[in-house]
Amino acid sequence: MAQTVKTFKYMQNFQCVGSECINTCCRGWDIHVDKEHYKKIKGKLSETADGKDLLNRSFRKNRSASKAGGKLYKIEMDETASCPLMDTQGLCRLHADYGESYLPNTCAIYPRQLSVYRDQWELTGYLSCPEVARLCLFDDDSFALVDTTIDSVPRKQAAINQNIAANTLMPFYKHFGSVRDMMFNYLSLRDLPLRSRLFILAFVANKLDPLIGQKGSTYQETEYQQILDAYTQEQQIQKLHQSFQGLDDVSRSFGAQLLGVILRIRAAADFKTSTLSQLICDITEDIGLCDDDVSDDAALDEITQALLDKYQLLASVQDSELNRRFDLALENYLKNFLYSNYYILSKMSLAEYVHMLILQTTMLRFLVYSHPQLLAKRDALSDMNETDKRVLIDQTIIDVFHKFSRGINHAPEFMRTIQQIFIQNNLNSLAHTSYLIMF
Ligand code: SF4
Repeated sequence: MAQTVKTFKYMQNFQCVGSECINTCCRGWDIHVDKEHYKKIKGKLSETADGKDLLNRSFRKNRSASKAGGKLYKIEMDETASCPLMDTQGLCRLHADYGESYLPNTCAIYPRQLSVYRDQWELTGYLSCPEVARLCLFDDDSFALVDTTIDSVPRKQAAINQNIAANTLMPFYKHFGSVRDMMFNYLSLRDLPLRSRLFILAFVANKLDPLIGQKGSTYQETEYQQILDAYTQEQQIQKLHQSFQGLDDVSRSFGAQLLGVILRIRAAADFKTSTLSQLICDITEDIGLCDDDVSDDAALDEITQALLDKYQLLASVQDSELNRRFDLALENYLKNFLYSNYYILSKMSLAEYVHMLILQTTMLRFLVYSHPQLLAKRDALSDMNETDKRVLIDQTIIDVFHKFSRGINHAPEFMRTIQQIFIQNNLNSLAHTSYLIMF
């Protein structure tokens, strides 16, 4: 019998929209090709002179690949970072002319991702695909569980990119499922504002962190269970919500610190051309951050203040439809992250992992509420008809979330560098994390 795979409603409905897509998913990718597929492609393309020319222009030997690893060839992107195998409609010629079986694994699998935790197989989608983002972000029910079979996943072995072996009995691994469920359940507490849910998540992660420890460390099973039991009680949850509501709001100054850090990292050579950096440039276009390529401290501080003012313009409007759609999108983004980025494989402690999630939520909030498309309509939002308003909000959210996800996938070290600066400056305590949540 075919292996059962656990997935969610949003993935069950996914279908690539091809030439209708607002994105070219392979642009800027590193596409490796294994020997078997290279031979198959070579065989077909070599049948014609044009095909031979395309083959020579499109593939090069991947000299750094080990023979055992099998990824012996790479697709050579053109000067615009586009795949040379794409036709003028933006469609893949290999797919159109010879069918799916001729695609390299990366192209056949994207935007799917398989994870294996013990004997449970899980299928999620990359939100860097705008169609996956559209299906996932706005449905109250996106994460309803659905069972499918492995046969629905192309190239199943190559599609696995997280794997925790069935025989892993170390406590750190053993309780992964229950800790992840706990985080997922906190995010689902829709009677509470999303910011309170994030605070509860950060609070409990900080409590559990010293008990769960790191790989191979001792483990305090009884205390761990007590914390899990205590903080699933309604009374405790309400208490945490109230204490978060009672905190002084100093988020503007903390938001300024976060923005300052991001702008300085963005200015560093390693990240200048990253997708995330480009997204920040788009949002800050009118301030001229990227045109002038500013890097001195005084100028960056000035830009930070201008960005904060711009963010406040829309954040202070408190448009209920915008806030509701954004919070739903963020909740679904975070749930997807829990499943597609196992914290136990992240090389971070649980508290650091949650801190990283919160940094992402703050950045996403800033990027959406500062988006030029939305800001241009700020004064008209309250008078817009419901349909037009929802289209505008959803388009903006998809634009930001899919580019942000792409940026994180392509350059995970960008986020990690931001977080390390926070950690080095002792800005990752629960109090500091609360200010990030409030921003
Ligand atoms: S980004 Fe998604 S919908 Fe768009 S072409 Fe790629 S897989 Fe298809």
